Amino acid sequence: MSLSRWFRPPRYLLTLFLGIMLVLAATLGWLGWRLLVQDRALENQRTQERLDNAADLIGASLLRKLSEGDGQLTGLLALSDSELGARASGLTGQASGSALIIVFRSQAVDAYPPASLVYYPFLPRAKEPPASVFATGEALEFQQKDPGRAIAAFRELSRSKDPAIRAGALLRVGRNLRKVQQPKAALDVYDELAQLGATPIGGLPAELLARHARCVLLDELKRTTQVKQEAGELYADLHNGRWQIARGAYRFYAQEARRWYSPDAELQARERDALATAAAVELLWEEWQRIHRGEGLSAGHRSLWILDRPMLLAWRTTSDRLVALVAGSRYLEQHWLSALQPLMDRQGVRLALTDAEGHLILGQFSATPPRQAVRSSSETQLPWTLHVASGDPHAELTQQANRHRLLFLGFTLLSTFVLVCIYFIARAVTRELEVARLQSDFVSAVSHEFRTPLASLRQLSELLTDGRVPTEQRRQEYYEGLRRESERLHHLVESLLDFGRMEAGAREYDFELLELEGLVRGVVEDFSQGISERGYRVDITQSDRLPAVRADQEALSRALWNLLDNAVKYSPHCRTIWVETACEDGQVAIQVRDQGLGIAPHEREQIFKKFVRAASAETAGARGTGLGLAMVQHIVSAHGGEVRVSSQPSGGSTFTILLPPAKE
Ligand code: ADP
Repeated sequence: MSLSRWFRPPRYLLTLFLGIMLVLAATLGWLGWRLLVQDRALENQRTQERLDNAADLIGASLLRKLSEGDGQLTGLLALSDSELGARASGLTGQASGSALIIVFRSQAVDAYPPASLVYYPFLPRAKEPPASVFATGEALEFQQKDPGRAIAAFRELSRSKDPAIRAGALLRVGRNLRKVQQPKAALDVYDELAQLGATPIGGLPAELLARHARCVLLDELKRTTQVKQEAGELYADLHNGRWQIARGAYRFYAQEARRWYSPDAELQARERDALATAAAVELLWEEWQRIHRGEGLSAGHRSLWILDRPMLLAWRTTSDRLVALVAGSRYLEQHWLSALQPLMDRQGVRLALTDAEGHLILGQFSATPPRQAVRSSSETQLPWTLHVASGDPHAELTQQANRHRLLFLGFTLLSTFVLVCIYFIARAVTRELEVARLQSDFVSAVSHEFRTPLASLRQLSELLTDGRVPTEQRRQEYYEGLRRESERLHHLVESLLDFGRMEAGAREYDFELLELEGLVRGVVEDFSQGISERGYRVDITQSDRLPAVRADQEALSRALWNLLDNAVKYSPHCRTIWVETACEDGQVAIQVRDQGLGIAPHEREQIFKKFVRAASAETAGARGTGLGLAMVQHIVSAHGGEVRVSSQPSGGSTFTILLPPAKE
C-alpha cells in the first residue's frame, strides 16, 4: 500500500489523533518536569524564608542579651566600690571561670570573681621597706663574704613587726643558708616565707618567690618527686590567678614550673583559656588608656580572637571607672546559646557565630552548608556575623527527594495511563476504520453481485419482448436463463436477509432428525446442475451408516451450498470438487475439498469473520461479499458443531463441518 493511499481519509484522522495524543503526552511530561523544577525552587525559597526568619529572630534575641549585659554593666558602674565587688562576683558566679567582670580605676585593676586573672595589665606600686633596712646584713654577705653573720643579721630583721621587712629578711636568710650549704634549713626558711602570702618583695609576692626558691633547692637536692609535686602546685596556683603579678612574672614562673612539671593537655588548655582572658584584659586596659587620652570608645563590644579562642569584651565607662565583661565561648554557650536553644529547636535551625576574620566563635559551622541565612554585624549590631542553617539538612534533603519521587511516580503513572488510553483508543479507531473499509468493500461487492444477474435478466427479457428470438428451442433456453438468474438473485437476497437475521439473533432454526447422506446428496445434485455447463463436477463419497443429526434442513443445506460455491469460485483450474461424509471423533463430518487457490495460514481464522476476504481471492478477481463463511459459522454453531479448515496456498482447501450425532 503506497504511503499517499494509506494517508487517505479517514486514516489521516487516525494519524492526526495519534499526533495530538503524542503532543498531549509530551506536554504532560513537560508539565510534570516543570512542576518538579518549580517544586524544588519553591521548597528552596520556603527553606530560605524560614532560615531568614529564624536568623532575624535569633539576631534580635542575641541583641537583647547583649543589651541586658550592657544594662547590668551600667548598673555596676553606678554602685559604690564595696557594693560593686559583691554584685560583680554574683553576676559571673555561675560562669565559673569562663567570664569575669573587670573594673579599672585610674590606678587599679580589679577582677571579679577575685583570683580570676592570671596576670594583670597594671599593678599599683606596693609599699616596700627601703633598701637601707637590709644594708648591714648585705654588707656582711657581699663585702665581708661572711654568710654566717649575715644570717644572724637577717634573722634579727625577720622578727620585725613589718611583714614586708620580715619577708625581705627571710628571703635573704634562705639565700645565705644556701651559701653555707644548709639547704634543709633554707627549705624551712622558704616555708616560713611562703606563709607571708602576697607580701611584696621587689614587686613580687613573697609566697611565689619562696615556693619557686623551694623548687630550685629541691631540684639541687635531687628530690625529684617532691620538686615535681611542688612545681605542679606552683603551676596550678599560677594559672588559677592566686597572685596579682604582671605578664612577665607570670611567663617566667610558669616556664620555671614547667621545668619540673609537665601539665597534661587539659591543664594546658585551661592555662591557654586563662592567658587568653588576661590578654583580652590587657587590650581593654589599652583601650582604657586611650579613653583617658580621649581617643577610645567609652562604651562598646568587641569580639576578639586570642590564642585560638574567641573572647567577648563589653564595657561601659564613667570618667574614673571602667566596668567590663570579659567572656569566653563557654560563657556564651552557657548563658546565651542555651537560652536560644528552644527557639532554634522550634525553628529547626542551628546557629554559628563568626568574627570579622571568619573565626568560628560559637556553634557549628560548615563552610558550604546547603542553605543558610547570613546576617552581618552591621545588620544585626552584634559583634559577630550570624549564620543560620537547617538543623538537619540531611533529613530535609531526604524529605524533598521523597516528595519528588512521589511526584515523579504520579506523573509516570498518569503518562502511562494516557499512553495506554491512546493505545486502546487508537486500536478501537483502527478497528472501526477496518470495519468501515470492509463494509464499503462489501457494498461494492454486493452491488457487483446484483449487477451481473440483473444485466442478464434485462438482456434476455429485451430479446424475448422484442421477438428477436428465432426458434422455439432458443426461446426455451432464454426462459431457462431468466429463471436461473432470478433464482440467483433470490438466493443472494435470501442470503443477505438470512445473515441479517443471524446477526440480529432472530434467525429461528427448525431442528429435526435428519439423515445426512440424503441431505448432502440432494444439495450436491442441485448444485451440480448449476455448474456442470462450466465444466465443474462434484465427486461425492459417503460412508455407510452415518448417525442421524438434529438439524435445520434448510440452514444446513445453505451452509453446505456456501462451501460448495466457494470451492468452485476459488478453484479456477481444477474443476473437480470432492465431498465426503464420515464419522470423525464421534462426530458427523461433511468435508468439502478443492484443489484451488488455498488460503495463507495467517488468514485462515480471519476469513470466518464477516466481510473478510483473503488476499488470494482479491488477487484472482473472484467476486464475493465476505459473508458466506460467516454464515456457515453461525449455522454450524447453532447446531452445536464446528467448522474446520485446512489449506495450503495454491494447494487447495478442505472445509469440514462437524456436527454432534443426535441423541437416541
Ligand atoms: P466470499 O463471498 O468472498 O466468498 P466467504 O465468506 O464465503 O466470502 O469467504 C471468505 C473468503 O475466504 C473468501 O473471500 C476467500 O478468500 C476465502 N475462501 C473461502 N473458501 C475458499 C476456498 N475453498 N478456497 C480458497 N479460499 C477460500
